[in-house]
Amino acid sequence: MTIDYDAKMPETEDGTIVYNTDPLIVKSHYEIDYIHSYGQDSEFFRALGKKKIMGSKCKKCSYVYATPRGHCMFCGEETEWYQLPNEGKIHTFTTCYFGGQEFLSQTPFNIILVEFPGVDSLFMTRLIGADQEDIKVGMKVRARFRRNLKFNPTDVYFVPMRE
Ligand SMILES: [Zn+2]
Repeated sequence: MTIDYDAKMPETEDGTIVYNTDPLIVKSHYEIDYIHSYGQDSEFFRALGKKKIMGSKCKKCSYVYATPRGHCMFCGEETEWYQLPNEGKIHTFTTCYFGGQEFLSQTPFNIILVEFPGVDSLFMTRLIGADQEDIKVGMKVRARFRRNLKFNPTDVYFVPMRE
């Protein structure tokens, strides 16, 4: 049996970045692997690999959502999958100068809401291939898909469409 009354944790040679002392704000590295299920939205992500964007349509009132949605927000009925067109037009847009850690290195980037013919809600996505000052409401855009799927919403993005 050993008892060391002078035991000490080993010191390290690295420092700590301090942003503020009152309140104390320091930099800490944070990284995790996050394992999660897409549940009923799985088909949306699988379809991106087939160059298809799947929205949903209410079986009762026929409202068409540009996003996966299990039930209609108006009448509560179950929805069915509905393939969106791969072409639409810009309803509105914004430029992001800040983002989460994954996207921070890509700033500034442009986010658009796409209007599709026959679809009642909008689809949020990234627009590339146009400078901010060239983006216009009503501009025609088309979907492109990553070849190397990550099964996340950035597997699809939009580019300007030739008129
Ligand atoms: Zn409905």
